[in-house]
Parts: sequence; C-alpha cells; structure tokens
Amino acid sequence: MLVLVLNSGSSSLKFNLFDMTDETLLLDGMAERIGVDGLFRWTAGKEGESRELPLPDHDTALREVLGVVARIVPKGRHINAVGHRVVHGGPKYGESVLITDEVLADIETYALYAPLHNPSNALGIRVARHDFPDIPHIAVFDTAFHHSIPDYARIYGIPFELSQKYGIRRYGFHGSSHAFVAARTAILLARPLRSLKLVTCHIGNGTSVCAVLQGHSMDTSMGMTPLQGVIMGTRCGTLDPSIVDLLIEKEHLDYRAITDLLNKKSGLLGISGVSSDFREIEMAADQGNARAALARDLLTYDVRKFIGSYIAVLDGVDAITFTAGIGTNSPRLRAEVCRHLTYLGLELDEQANTTGTGERLISTPTSKVAVAVVPTNEELMIARETVK
Ligand code: ADP
Repeated sequence: MLVLVLNSGSSSLKFNLFDMTDETLLLDGMAERIGVDGLFRWTAGKEGESRELPLPDHDTALREVLGVVARIVPKGRHINAVGHRVVHGGPKYGESVLITDEVLADIETYALYAPLHNPSNALGIRVARHDFPDIPHIAVFDTAFHHSIPDYARIYGIPFELSQKYGIRRYGFHGSSHAFVAARTAILLARPLRSLKLVTCHIGNGTSVCAVLQGHSMDTSMGMTPLQGVIMGTRCGTLDPSIVDLLIEKEHLDYRAITDLLNKKSGLLGISGVSSDFREIEMAADQGNARAALARDLLTYDVRKFIGSYIAVLDGVDAITFTAGIGTNSPRLRAEVCRHLTYLGLELDEQANTTGTGERLISTPTSKVAVAVVPTNEELMIARETVK
C-alpha cells in the first residue's frame, strides 16, 4: 500500500510517500514560502532537487508534489490513501478518522483551539481531496493520543459550565511523536510497552513532556492549545493569566497583538533577544550572553520540573526519553536535566550521551532509570494510522 502523508502549514506543505508493505520512505520533501515566493525541495533515494519557483497557493504546491510523486511511484502502482496531520481534533476525535465533509467541518470549527494550525491543515485537506477524489483521506490528530488523560488532569480551575460550554480543557499535542518514541523505548528496553512507566520529552521548536503509563498518555504539559507548558522557541509556555491583563492594559494591546506576542515573540526568542533557535542560544550563552544563558537555563529547568512532576503522576518511572530537534541533538541539555535526577538512581552514560548517534540508550546498564534518545518519526506514525 502506498501512503502519501501531508502536513499542511500556513506557508508550507511537507510531504512523504511511504511504501507500507515494508514501511520504506520513498519520497521526502517540502514546499515552503507558499504565498510568499516559493521553494520546493525533495529527496527520493539518490535523486532529489531544491529549486525556487512561484508557489502562490497550496493548490499550486500540491500540483508540484503530484508531479514528483508521478516520477517516483513504481510502475503499475498508485497512491492508495492520503494521511493528513491535523493538529487539533477537539473533544470529539480520540482516534484517527476517515475524512468526510462533516469531519472537515469539525476540523475547521476546532480552529477555535488551534488558530495557527487547523485552518492550514483544513486547507491542505481540501486541496488534496480535490486532486485525489477517489481514494480515502485520513485525519491523524496530534491530540488523539491524549484522550486517555483522566478528567482531573484535564480540567482547568474555571467555572465548570464554561469548560463544558466551550470545550475548555487540556487536549495535549505532539501525540504521534509521544506514541512513536514510547513504543521505540519499549523496544530498546526489550520490555512490553504495557508494563512501562515512561516520561517522553519532545523538545524542539515546540516542546511538550508526557507521562505515559502502559502506552497511554496520563498527562502532558501542553494544554487546550500548544501554548501551555514548557517555554518554547517563540511560545511563552505556562503563564500567570494575570500577566495577560497587565500587558493588555499597560501596553494597550488588543486580542490579536497579545496572541501574536505570546505565540511568536516570547519563549527563547523573547527572553534571549537573540534567537528562537536553540543552537544559537547555546552559542550565545557560551560567548557570555547572560540573557541567552537565562533562556537556556529556563528551558532546561522547565523540562526537569515537568519530568519530576510526571514521575509523581506515574508513581515512579522506568525510562525517560528525549526526542525532537533539541532533545535529540543537545547532549548538554540532556546531561543537565539528568544531573538533577540522580536521587532516582539514574546514571547517565556520558559517552553514549555525547558521542553516540541515533536511537540509543544513554544510561549505564546499572542505572535504575533508563534514559533513551529516540529520533521521532511522526510521518511514519501518520502512515501507520492511515493503513490501520
Ligand atoms: P519543530 O518543532 O519545528 O519540528 P525541531 O524538532 O526540528 O522543530 O527542533 C528545532 C530545534 O532543534 C531548534 O531550536 C534547533 O536549534 C534545535 N537543534 C537542532 N540541532 C541542534 C543541535 N545540534 N544542538 C542543539 N539544538 C539543536
């Protein structure tokens, strides 16, 4: 079965083509700067290209994707299904679903909770359904994995009627990633997932930590929207809500301006004034930039704090797993986080942490808590869900 996976953002369209007979990745690419100018790149085995071209809209971008797909698809075969990454599935979708007009309308409605993501996800679905009208399209939601979070961990302390009326509750995100790395960690440990207590840390531009009990999400740091929790590249993470009132009043900000400030100008970027990119933050901190050091230290501290609280949630932990751009690539952040977990009997294998690459355990064989690095593969998870 050939599955095309699409991840449609506001100005980008990521695409992957999998042969699900053996889960081979046949094609990996991205159309960027849609609506601005246009950049299109892809790789397929040894083939590939990167070129500038006008991409006025998602329609045009998808046409380009189809052109490449036609070159790559083995003779006599065709795409059997399209899996779409959808950030928010609202209260209704605890599983991946076949996309109908009703599902698409729901995805558009849930823009209420993910205004920066769901509208572009829906746009991608519309365009792809138009171009592939005869094959199934599946929505795979970032929120679905977290439907197992118990009510007391998802409710916010506001009047219950308002929570009910507007669906205000913790939904959680990065579900495909947490599910993927949890399953891989079980394989690394050679133990069944259903026997494990895991804390998975997805630390990238967006960051979330998740408590995983027997393969099910019990709590996660992101909330109703992907703004809550650990500080991120440009997102503020958890705030005292009164800070919003103060800024609105003193800075004369309207709703749009405050949303923009908290989503795009805060986090590592807002604190450091240097960059949202963690590599640049680490470099600036090493060169003595105090605000960059502060941003770096807050991210490390936030991750540690959530891990600690989720160990309490799980009543213990068998393994802690790091993934995504920072989680996979920053040995220093991992070492700094783990340095404060020695009371658990956790022993980091310094060499595996710093010089190892790819998926691996980075704790010593005698460590009471295992530590793993697992590069995530959300696209493969979406393809698997699509097949299922
Ligand atoms: P996204 O959430 O957009 O998928 P990624 O998971 O790709 O983001 O993570 C991007 C982050 O990973 C950036 O902050 C980047 O600086 C960081 N990163 C990538 N490589 C390294 C590295 N070698 N050391 C430290 N941070 C890194």
